Amino acid sequence: MEQFTGMKNFEHKKNITRIVSLVLCAAISVLFFGCRLNKTDSKTEFVLGTVCSIEIPKTKTSAALLEACFSELRRLEKVFSANDASSELSAVNKTAYKAPVVLSENLAALLTQALDIAHKTDKAFDPAIGAVVKLWNIGFDTARIPAQSEIDNVLPEAIVENIKLENSDAGTTVFFTSEKVKLDLGAVAKGYSADYIAALLKANGVKSAVINLGGNVLTIGKKFFTNDNWKIGLRNPSGSADSVKLILSISGKSVVTSGIYERYFEKNGVRYHHVLDPKTGYPVKNNLMSVSVVCESSTYADALATGFLVMGYEKSIAFLKQSEKMHGEKVDAVFFFDDGSWKSTNDSIILDMAK
Ligand code: FAD
Ligand code: MG
Repeated sequence: MEQFTGMKNFEHKKNITRIVSLVLCAAISVLFFGCRLNKTDSKTEFVLGTVCSIEIPKTKTSAALLEACFSELRRLEKVFSANDASSELSAVNKTAYKAPVVLSENLAALLTQALDIAHKTDKAFDPAIGAVVKLWNIGFDTARIPAQSEIDNVLPEAIVENIKLENSDAGTTVFFTSEKVKLDLGAVAKGYSADYIAALLKANGVKSAVINLGGNVLTIGKKFFTNDNWKIGLRNPSGSADSVKLILSISGKSVVTSGIYERYFEKNGVRYHHVLDPKTGYPVKNNLMSVSVVCESSTYADALATGFLVMGYEKSIAFLKQSEKMHGEKVDAVFFFDDGSWKSTNDSIILDMAK
């Protein structure tokens, strides 16, 4: 996938050519087969640092509902962005080590889930890792390899144990017990936003929809005007950007992929990608190219896709065996390896294999 540059090019990124090329390059694509007799309404916009699209059945109010969804996505970006100095998250990162900060409802809800998953994944996914992410700045013009001393200076304290969430009369507050903690919710905010938009659509009577936030796909109900499952194409991580490797068949679920092949820079022939191992502070190294997670909660799928990429295949499988007990919902995953092979935890969700 094309690399994003910083906020300075944000307006430019909205141009339609870029949107079309990014949609084609998404790690996950929603595939439509056959012609549709009934009509749908859709909207695509660059928000949350990526191309987002939502499609719902066409009604008298569908256009206004889509506009409301995108207005909410733009609002959520101002809450969660680690790249916008005026976001709520940036304000929290500036002061929460000095005194507890009262959080908005959305930030409190996402942070509560993120801390829970960080503990469950034994910090393979850890939202406290923001200072290390900023050292690398992968995906931006200023990406670089930090000195080991810079990593050592922040890494030991950039951990979830140093984040304290509390409920008080004023609301949920957060306090960092170390100045080295900086929140980064980039690995989970698209998932949360998808769940949030799905709830908004359902509250407005929508029974069938597809929400695609930069390849973070959440489906509502069955495919438009049919009783069929949605067909979701997973990109071949070893192939070109538009090559589909597997087609999943799902309904009412989310599919989220985390990969090492989309956002990276190269130096002296070495590729440095954006998913960091919280144990080393370096881009994670194992035999995985990407992991796609399938479950009802897009928040959980997003965090787990990142966490599994860090854990590696065996630890992820062990986690999944426990996960139904721990989280109370069925989770499946598809793992793509660097030798071109793949493994799935549930072959019944795989409809087809592309050549
Ligand atoms: P995921 O695997 O889901 O997430 C990887 C990201 O999570 C990394 O980029 C890093 O930020 C963080 N991370 C790395 N390792 C870990 C770990 N072990 N545990 C937890 N987190 C980790 N991109 C731009 O280029 N410009 C923008 O202005 C911009 N604004 C954004 C605003 C919002 C609200 C969001 C949600 C994203 C934005 N992005 C922007 C994209 C963002 O910087 C991340 O690159 C993106 O969210 C990564 O998502 P992913 O699905 O590719 O990978
Ligand atoms: Mg993720």
